[in-house]
Amino acid sequence: MSASQAVAASPSFIGSFVSGARCVICGRRFDAAYLDKACVCPGHGDEGILDIEYDYQAASARFPAPDQPGLWRYRALLPLPWTAPVPPLLTGMTPLYEAPALARAMNCAKVFVKDDTRQPTGSFKDRASCLAVALARAQGVPVVATASTGNAAAALAGMAAAMRQTCVIFVPASAPAPKVAQLLAYGAYVFLVRGSYDQAFELCMEACRRKGWYNRNTAYNPCMAEGKKSAAFEIAEGMDWHTPDAVFVGTGDGCILAGLHKGFSDLVRLGRATRIPRLYGVQAAGSDFLCQAWEEGRRTAHAVLAKTPIAARTAADSICAGLPRDRVKAMRAVCESRGRFVRVSDTEILAAVPVLARACGVFAEPAGAAALAGFVNAARQGLIAPADTVCLVVTGSGLKDPDAVTAALSSSETSTMGGTVSVDPDPAALDDALSRLCLEGKHPSFSSL
Ligand SMILES: *Cc1c(COP(=O)(O)O)cnc(C)c1O
Ligand SMILES: [Zn+2]
Repeated sequence: MSASQAVAASPSFIGSFVSGARCVICGRRFDAAYLDKACVCPGHGDEGILDIEYDYQAASARFPAPDQPGLWRYRALLPLPWTAPVPPLLTGMTPLYEAPALARAMNCAKVFVKDDTRQPTGSFKDRASCLAVALARAQGVPVVATASTGNAAAALAGMAAAMRQTCVIFVPASAPAPKVAQLLAYGAYVFLVRGSYDQAFELCMEACRRKGWYNRNTAYNPCMAEGKKSAAFEIAEGMDWHTPDAVFVGTGDGCILAGLHKGFSDLVRLGRATRIPRLYGVQAAGSDFLCQAWEEGRRTAHAVLAKTPIAARTAADSICAGLPRDRVKAMRAVCESRGRFVRVSDTEILAAVPVLARACGVFAEPAGAAALAGFVNAARQGLIAPADTVCLVVTGSGLKDPDAVTAALSSSETSTMGGTVSVDPDPAALDDALSRLCLEGKHPSFSSL
């Protein structure tokens, strides 16, 4: 494809309620038309990430729009024209479960579980990717591309398949094989980058620039946080337009955290909510850039940007990021909401997988269960009050990579129930085995919490 083919067919923000965008570093304001030409503030290279602004008064009458499927019911506050085609895969409006067993075990008022394992490609990333492919179509760009630790790639590849677009993916060669298989099934062109996610990101950025591909890269593309904010709308609407006291989510690049903050802030601006929940970004101990930055007191954009990348390594592959791309917005989200960054070990994360599955039947990948691990850790630090209502955002399905949780299943808590028994194909042998198991009346207990 030549670069000229990639030129925008039409201004993609006309017909939306987008009023402009603001640089998160210098605060410079841009009009909506600027977003069709560029993604970032020219003053700071690719770090000059923008925050999209809306005409809230005009949008309010169409928020929500119950006739629109899935998260498109919130499209008045999404950066896409009202009539632009969207992918047919039903995205968003995932279940919000109450988990009374967890609330009891954790000694707080209520616990909700936002189940984003139920997205079309199995992760929260679909909220951003459905918008990316719709924007690419609106702009007349035939090829969409992203770097990813796996899930953003699957989301883009699935959405692109549904929109009949060409999809190019850059993942670190260490990406779990089942996640790569998902990409190939959708027909994506996959580059296995011999390097880290951070290096795959740079390679993708450079390729998009030269080839004119639609760049879905997290944070750099300010529309991705906009798609992700839909989860905040759904949580609030699911609670009859109340907001939880605290929200926990596994954090790598920080774009989900930024999106949640944007969503709850939008609701306050619209007058649909009175306060923003305390936002807790949960990081793996081996990929804790934002925890470190928090502890070092780097609260301003300039201080966060001045921190050098770390070498990241964790079993929770989806939150492995040595240089969180949305670190400025993520730090702002946590500071303005009076939340925290919480550090948890891989052991705590893996142990949370079966605990969550047994508490409410939601089977998460490690990065998804990190929300629960962070909640347990924060409660132990005294950060959760008995009157608090807590929401855990479960961002990815355990079916993505079941091998990742095998290690967790040997821990002492999980051995108290369930398990495999070898048995001959004979009813008497089965009865004999059953009598030794005494499984009746056994319910999940959460003694390890
Ligand atoms: C991407 C992802 C995260 C983290 O989101 P960031 O925006 O990178 O912080 C958490 N969990 C899962 C399953 C993910 O795919
Ligand atoms: Zn700027």
